[in-house]
Amino acid sequence: MTLNYDLHSHSTASDGVLTPSELVIRAHNQGVTTLALTDHDTISGLNEALDTAKSVTINLISGIELSTTWKKRCLHIVGLNINPHSSILLEGIKQQQTIRAERAQTIALKLEKQGIYGAYKAVTIAAKDGMITRSHFADFLVKENYVTRNQAAFDRYLGERKPAYVPTVWVELADALLWIKAAGGVAVLAHPLRYKMTATWMRRLLAEFKEMGGDGIEVVTGRSNPEEIKLSYNYAKKFELAGSVGSDFHTPKNQWVELGRCYPLPEGIQAIWDLFTKNGN
Ligand code: AMP
Ligand code: MN
Ligand code: MN
Ligand code: MN
Repeated sequence: MTLNYDLHSHSTASDGVLTPSELVIRAHNQGVTTLALTDHDTISGLNEALDTAKSVTINLISGIELSTTWKKRCLHIVGLNINPHSSILLEGIKQQQTIRAERAQTIALKLEKQGIYGAYKAVTIAAKDGMITRSHFADFLVKENYVTRNQAAFDRYLGERKPAYVPTVWVELADALLWIKAAGGVAVLAHPLRYKMTATWMRRLLAEFKEMGGDGIEVVTGRSNPEEIKLSYNYAKKFELAGSVGSDFHTPKNQWVELGRCYPLPEGIQAIWDLFTKNGN
């Protein structure tokens, strides 16, 4: 059997559309053999995902995608093979959740200043017990016809320098790595090319990331083209970081991103999954 790793995905515990159980079943049906559930700043979907994974025989890796701050930028760090009972990690997640909740209120207030009311109530209902993300606000803006598409909501209101953008101080990158390490996990820089950094900044980041104990970078994501894979591969090689593969799946409605539908990790660098150690979870 060929192994198919997808180490970055979202469920209704954050801004994904499928429940953890539906996500695991879809991954299995798409031929994924090892799936990581990596919701934004929460692990609340893991129990359900682990349960379902047993019944469909898929290897479910406990994960999380932490929003972090590094030199005033927001970077996403995927923690993989974490022990979900680690008290240091759980304490950290609690802090992130407070930041998220306050930020959501501020975003809603900023939208009110633009004459848009009812956002907070709508996103709270939509997120249920899960994390409120800007995707929830984008969905609200589409539903209420303020914009026609999700992307337009970011372009007009939610993106950087737009009227409802809230600069947010997340956990420092170095501390996020400590949380992941304390939970026995490996730390991966998510979608490295999405931060639109210059090559100089990217090298600065990767050197520091490696120094702080970072383990790998996503060399292949759901939307990577061969050129981007090559570029990320070269970064991984240069900074002696392992390579990860993850679709960043959120919804079956996005025809461009599907669970397990990624290019394979190129040979010649360490695969991140070779660094997973038994975690007792
Ligand atoms: P948050 O972590 O609350 O800032 O929300 C981030 C989520 O919003 C990401 O995981 C994406 O799913 C989505 N997102 C962020 N930026 C954009 C963008 N420019 N266009 C569309 N979706 C975006
Ligand atoms: Mn997301
Ligand atoms: Mn991300
Ligand atoms: Mn993601």
